[in-house]
Amino acid sequence: MEAAGPPAVILNAERERSVLRGHPWVFSGAVGRVAGEPASGETVRVATAAGEVLGLGAYSPRSQIRVRLWTREPTRAIDAAFFHERVRAAIARRRALLDAAALPACRLVHGEADGLPGVVADRYADVVVLQLTSAGAERWRDAIADALAAETGCAGIYERSDAEVREIEGLAPRTGAIRGTLAGAMAEIVEHGIRYRVDVAHGQKTGFYLDQRDNRARVRALARGCDVLNAFCYTGGFSLAALAGGARSVLSLDSSAAALALARENLALNALDASRAEWAEADVFAHLRGLRDAGRTFDLVVLDPPKFAPTAAHAARAARAYKDINLLAFRLLRPGGLLVTFSCSGGVTADLFQKIVASAAVDAGAEAQLLARLAAAPDHPVMLAFPEGEYLKGLILKKL
Ligand code: SAH
Repeated sequence: MEAAGPPAVILNAERERSVLRGHPWVFSGAVGRVAGEPASGETVRVATAAGEVLGLGAYSPRSQIRVRLWTREPTRAIDAAFFHERVRAAIARRRALLDAAALPACRLVHGEADGLPGVVADRYADVVVLQLTSAGAERWRDAIADALAAETGCAGIYERSDAEVREIEGLAPRTGAIRGTLAGAMAEIVEHGIRYRVDVAHGQKTGFYLDQRDNRARVRALARGCDVLNAFCYTGGFSLAALAGGARSVLSLDSSAAALALARENLALNALDASRAEWAEADVFAHLRGLRDAGRTFDLVVLDPPKFAPTAAHAARAARAYKDINLLAFRLLRPGGLLVTFSCSGGVTADLFQKIVASAAVDAGAEAQLLARLAAAPDHPVMLAFPEGEYLKGLILKKL
């Protein structure tokens, strides 16, 4: 008999190891038995077969990730105060970690790494964009929104819970203002001195790729005098960074007309030489071939494609796509030129990504040196016990 209290998920004896080692997820295959009838998102105790309670988590009846742990303290109350405390701690870590200038445009809450699985919160000036992707996060939506409003003093909390992964949790998409109202749903941020407008309501993800902040600064430092190609430019992040760094020309490609329109607006917001910027609405795969056939070459190529492999199951197809664009990039590079290439696919490890890029170089007949490995900015931390949290990796390569 279990003691009275919240429902319990009892693990299979041979499947306890992962949680004991600090992993925050319980997969359905690890569940031996469920005591009680927990609702979606309800708090459950997670216990070993021998009856030891390992922690408290949120129950997801529809997902293979059956429980996401909130805490390893069996007696902790999971209530609004708990979420307020977690949000406060997450924001305090950003204050300790980032330059003050970066705080108005940073990731405040990064899911598992901040003890809040399924919760992402990005700050853009006086708006916080909240994305909830798990049943547990959904259940505590109000408490989380209240805590973010109280801890940031931001006037608006805007929800962008429209990520596809919600479907797996049985959650419908939801977007719109949760707290305050948002005139026009546009925010304006400053990153390393460059101004960007962020379309909070319609932009991709939460509106801006904050994880690339420091990598954009790296590109800026490399761009002086270069002819730059920025493939998958979105709203112009790396393009403006390269122009600010003194690039001679920047050709930017994206398939999204809306992203390109905002990229041009962003360029106009800054005191940069617009005559050096060329924008093309194009499919990168086809356009790189066209550039190759036209004999165009560049000193610096940035490749920051979307997630080709959300999970390891998609890795093979993703590998072909990565190889294709990196091979073309090597061909477009002049001798001595630099390739700054990324993968944000959780299903492709850093090691695999480097192997794919290496084989692209071989097929392009290029010799290349690895100058640096890149990752997401530090407001997107990774827990050692949760390597799945590491998604963005990049390489800086020099073509000899
Ligand atoms: N580097 C950007 C973020 C890139 S996000 C930044 O720093 O902000 C990936 C971008 O790739 C998106 O803008 C998306 O519209 C674009 N995209 C996706 N598939 C594409 C394709 N086949 N060709 C061109 N652009 C594509």
